[in-house]
Amino acid sequence: MSDQLVCRYDMEMVAPECTPGASWWGVKIKIENDISEVFPYMNAELNEVDYNHSAKILVWNGDDGLKYAFRSNEIAVAPVEDRAGAQSMCDSIVGMVNDIWSRKVNIEPSIKGKAPPPSMLQLLKLLPKTNCKDCGCATCMAFAAELIKKQAELLGCPHLSQDAHAKNRESLLKLLE
Ligand code: SF4
Repeated sequence: MSDQLVCRYDMEMVAPECTPGASWWGVKIKIENDISEVFPYMNAELNEVDYNHSAKILVWNGDDGLKYAFRSNEIAVAPVEDRAGAQSMCDSIVGMVNDIWSRKVNIEPSIKGKAPPPSMLQLLKLLPKTNCKDCGCATCMAFAAELIKKQAELLGCPHLSQDAHAKNRESLLKLLE
């Protein structure tokens, strides 16, 4: 029996919602079977991992400068420059998952993780909520979503640097650290 966890996948290129005209893409790797069993082994093997065992979400800052978010049936990756780069990245990350899975008997799994990431509503409550679009997002909610995906930075909302928002800015920084 094959010890490959991911035998086949589909790749989808996604334009970033918050950065119109961006020269990069997000990529979604859709996987038919549930790959979450490998997450505790990946958590033990990889550096810079943010793992939430109960939610089955593992976020990894790859050595290649890309950010990978693993869920049960999907791996989301950004930023990717073009389709050719996306295809080789997909093969490489799927290869890494299969490699860790094939070595699992020699890895002590770990379910330890950082605090769960903040929710979109938690962030939205602390944003100015004017939907002014100055950050490039259509709404503050969309900006909150980009913050969670780590595809935007707080500085992207220029209004947070105003004194009136200082307290909320501090709270946001704590939630996102
Ligand atoms: S710039 Fe700030 S206030 Fe304006 S939409 Fe973006 S997050 Fe909301």
